[in-house]
Amino acid sequence: MSKFDYDLFVIGAGSGGVRASRVAASHGARVAVAEEHRVGGTCVIRGCVPKKLLVYGAHFAEDLKDARHFGWDVPPNCRFDWARLRDNVLAEVTRLEGLYGQTLDNHQVEVFKTRATVAGPQTVRLADGRELTAERILIATGGWPFVPDFPGSEHAITSNEVFHLETLPQRVVIAGGGYIANEFAGIFNEFGSKVTIVNRGDAILRGYDEQIRDRLLQISMTKGIEFRFNAPFQSIEKQADGSLMVHLANCDPIPADAVLVATGRVPNTRGLGLAEAGVELDADGAVKVDEGNRSSVPSIYAVGDVTNRIQLTPVAIREGQAFADSVFGGKPTTVDYANVPSAVFSHPPIGAVGMTEAEARNKLGSIRVYTSDFRAMKNVLAGRNERALYKMVVNEATDQVVGLHLIGPDAPEILQAAAVAVKAGLTKADFDATVALHPSMAEELVLLK
Ligand code: NDP
Repeated sequence: MSKFDYDLFVIGAGSGGVRASRVAASHGARVAVAEEHRVGGTCVIRGCVPKKLLVYGAHFAEDLKDARHFGWDVPPNCRFDWARLRDNVLAEVTRLEGLYGQTLDNHQVEVFKTRATVAGPQTVRLADGRELTAERILIATGGWPFVPDFPGSEHAITSNEVFHLETLPQRVVIAGGGYIANEFAGIFNEFGSKVTIVNRGDAILRGYDEQIRDRLLQISMTKGIEFRFNAPFQSIEKQADGSLMVHLANCDPIPADAVLVATGRVPNTRGLGLAEAGVELDADGAVKVDEGNRSSVPSIYAVGDVTNRIQLTPVAIREGQAFADSVFGGKPTTVDYANVPSAVFSHPPIGAVGMTEAEARNKLGSIRVYTSDFRAMKNVLAGRNERALYKMVVNEATDQVVGLHLIGPDAPEILQAAAVAVKAGLTKADFDATVALHPSMAEELVLLK
């Protein structure tokens, strides 16, 4: 009989924590998990899933406009009902939350719907003061939106609140130029809001290939999204009529009905008792872990955004799986962080894997770059002057494809399949040897000259 209440206590039932809990339990461990918000975590409750559903909802605006070119008579003033979409999305989130809870139940994982903190290397404390012991503790508390400190910041919302807006704001100002900013700019713009992205620097989507970022910027501006660069927020002032006035350095003030701050996410470790228990954190508050997800305290591990490695759900899931297989399944596993694909669900979306052109030039020296700049067939018939751009980066010395960067309709769907080839180290000649699937957009990848 173990001297501990559990073999594993997981703090945080998001993507990483749920995967680790259920896999550890399936390996025979006695597992408990604590969640202070809702089971499912950021991705399911207030991130990827509801966001993607809003992206689908938003895209109807374009489809309805284009439909008449395809022979459909669509009434000229179709009305969009934000409350109906919001409530349907939130109901779907609740359904998924239930499924996640069921999975944990099915694996006999005990769920504590309360905050838990670390009280020692093998002890956690629940919000009601109860202390429980576990041979190992897994920190999977994810991240939290970072809001810069400026006067009136309390009037802004973050991605936590945006899914619950009472009404659709007519004018939205978005701070930041990253994933969330560009995704929600596309969503609100399609719904008919006036959107302005305000960025502290002069580039959007740092880390993505420059040509792809430029294409998104150009298309976004054509669609009516406004941008202010090199314009840090100074303050938000609430007006007598309840609206907001956003004051910026170097720019005129912008009136808004909602201000969304999307300036990155920070590891959710505040007040968790980690430092007190001897767990080393980095300057951003992330738990420092080794490649086995172990912190500086041997009984405490961490996976997912709280470790600030790659802030993506599928990465957290892999880390959770690797932790559980290694520690409880007798199958030592590490996560391979090379060639992790990613997507931005902007309008149109971006999909990317591997090195950008600039990275490849720096790292490899000699490279070849192939691009296809084309108008998707569907856009041509719709009279939509919006061009897709596909870019392939090839190592000159080996002919290996080391990067793929796509922007255009369904780019993430196409990229996921193509990422297998990049991960497998296939060459440009392998792409060329594959017969095109016609007519498709993806065929551009095997026809690059
Ligand atoms: P990002 O890291 O993508 O972008 C942050 C943006 O905010 C950048 O433009 C950055 O500018 C700016 N910024 C950072 N700090 C400040 C500051 N102090 N003042 C003003 N501006 C600032 O963060 P997001 O919030 O958009 O998203 C958080 C994370 O969530 C992402 O990193 C991603 O991992 C994940 N995510 C993934 C999605 C997906 O996979 N599709 C979708 C949504 C989120 P600068 O470039 O100058 O640093």
